[in-house]
Amino acid sequence: MNTVVHSVTIVTMDDDNSLFYGYVVVEENGFKKVSKGSPTSEELKSANQVIDGKGKWLMPGLINTHGHLGSTLLRGAGDDMSLMTWLEQVMWPNEARFDKETVLIAAELAMMEMIKSGTTTFLDMYHMHLDDVADLVMEKGLRATLCRGMIGLCSEEEQEAKLAESVRLFDQFHGKGNGKLSIALSPHAPYTCPPPFLNRVVETAEKHQMIIHTHLSETRGEVEKHLKDYGKRPVEHMEELGLFRQPCLIAHGVHVNEQEINILKDCQVAVSHNPMSNLKLGSGIAPIPEMQSKGITVALGTDSTASNNNLDMFEEMRMAALIHKGFNENPSATTSIETLAMATSKGAEALRLDRLGKITPGFKADFIIVNPNEPHLTPWNESRVQSHLVYSASGSDVTDVFIDGQPIYLNRQLINFDEEKIISQANEKLKKFI
Ligand SMILES: [Zn+2]
Repeated sequence: MNTVVHSVTIVTMDDDNSLFYGYVVVEENGFKKVSKGSPTSEELKSANQVIDGKGKWLMPGLINTHGHLGSTLLRGAGDDMSLMTWLEQVMWPNEARFDKETVLIAAELAMMEMIKSGTTTFLDMYHMHLDDVADLVMEKGLRATLCRGMIGLCSEEEQEAKLAESVRLFDQFHGKGNGKLSIALSPHAPYTCPPPFLNRVVETAEKHQMIIHTHLSETRGEVEKHLKDYGKRPVEHMEELGLFRQPCLIAHGVHVNEQEINILKDCQVAVSHNPMSNLKLGSGIAPIPEMQSKGITVALGTDSTASNNNLDMFEEMRMAALIHKGFNENPSATTSIETLAMATSKGAEALRLDRLGKITPGFKADFIIVNPNEPHLTPWNESRVQSHLVYSASGSDVTDVFIDGQPIYLNRQLINFDEEKIISQANEKLKKFI
């Protein structure tokens, strides 16, 4: 399969951050050529599929590094609450009543929302029906890192069962879906995972060479309780427990001090920044510019629709770009280029996915096309494209999505989904469990 997309302005996000009018040649699942100008007649003749980009913008697919697909139907179920109140009163009681069908409808709804707003890769931490979600992800063609979220506030027997399930998922699905599926090991958070259980998590991760993903230092209350219970701050404690010996991605990192930032840097821990969720739950503002200045890999995530409340990574980018300027009273605290990298190349780095997040030869052909012919993206020239993508665009400007060279969304039409059916099923489910 050979695809040519021409007449596009390409936002490569490559090492030189180059941006130009040109075309791409996709062979199998990767970029064979990324070039200025127009394709040769030979290139056009040998292509199975030729797409006229009509002057639109082509950029890497967005990478959402933290979320919980299974709870998508809890969108709007609990606003204006702190994290612990929201977890204890809204999330956990509702999720306890979810069946397989509910989780699958929620996951499919989330995938449709992500594709339609330009996300091609996502991380999902959830605790139910991961097998079925993995099958669904492969069927729909997205790229994903799935992790079985493990809460350790249970018997040792139950803890071991959760670890065994994670390892089984890893053995069964890691690398499947033409390499698009990855499985990580996911202790939910330090406040739900006592140290003996975290020791077992580390042993398991090392034995099977799994990436670790966890919530960490999300609220001030979490840090205070951790200090009271263990006499140490969470990041310090996680390092001592050995959690950072394996490649690790933490979600949030809102309440971390300078010493903890240094630990994250030294241990090459990546951070998934979720500004919308942190604001909505009143958790705080993560010290992202400080992390970036130390060279920590910072990516972006939405968290679930229950604390965001959508999965639009363009909104997440805009929020990330703006909030640190205001908070630091410094308009250059974050730039549009850094923010675009957080949603693309840095996302790939954070998930430890090779050859992803850039439009460059040899990289996987995950890309999206954005329509600039809208009043809110006008006027533009090449010098303004990256600014517009961060400060003016929204997910609804995405017209086409390709993953691994395959079209998933074409001319605003979803290829593998029955959108009407899933929306109707989701609304029916709402009547039953809220
Ligand atoms: Zn989360």
